Amino acid sequence: MVGENYNKILKKIEESCKRAGRDPKEVTLIAVSKTKPVPMLEQAYNAGARDFGENKVQEIRDKYPVLPEDIKWHMIGHLQTNKVKYIVDKVCLIHSVDSYHLAEEISKQAVKKGCEVDILIEVNMAEEESKFGLFKEEVIDLIKEVALLKNIHIKGLMTIAPYVTDPEDNRKYFKAIKDLSIDIDKKNIDNVSMSVLSMGMTGDYEVAVEEGATLVRVGTGIFGERNYQI
Ligand SMILES: *Cc1c(COP(=O)(O)O)cnc(C)c1O
Repeated sequence: MVGENYNKILKKIEESCKRAGRDPKEVTLIAVSKTKPVPMLEQAYNAGARDFGENKVQEIRDKYPVLPEDIKWHMIGHLQTNKVKYIVDKVCLIHSVDSYHLAEEISKQAVKKGCEVDILIEVNMAEEESKFGLFKEEVIDLIKEVALLKNIHIKGLMTIAPYVTDPEDNRKYFKAIKDLSIDIDKKNIDNVSMSVLSMGMTGDYEVAVEEGATLVRVGTGIFGERNYQI
């Protein structure tokens, strides 16, 4: 079931790319496996998934050693500074950087471990109070400061769009963050690339791909509903 879902979503992404005149190779599907047990991740892996997303440090620490080494782990959830040290050398990308304080700690731990860390800046495009992430007006100042830190590289932007029943309602936010990334790119800041745009989840990834997503984060659509009681 997991494998079938994974392939079905790949196909939908391909179709969205076609509609938007994009090359499907530009888009990577991240299997968001939070709360899901290792055998389910193995099913996705066997279907071809190599990028997995988790939102808790503890879950990455548990799953990392028991799954194949060629998996790329994405930290997509809010990250506390005191936990950075546990994952900084295990993840390929941290999607959720929204403060200088956090970036500074990532840099410090990366220097200590002798690794380089790629990050995205999380933007709260809809300015929802319940969400982490910067308002768009704050993004450029943070980027300029973080760009100066050692062993940390800004690769683009990430957003979590509002929960909506009609994905079309989120198109404006996807368009706006794409525009923001183009504006930032034009500034040619050293150590800053805007090649990655992480947006789109189960409910709205097709619209996100049409608007320029390079990473989509799909959980429920691949693994089914999450049960937080477990
Ligand atoms: C859980 C989660 C997702 C996946 O959500 P689904 O709606 O299950 O696809 C994507 N991004 C982030 C940051 C998440 O925490």
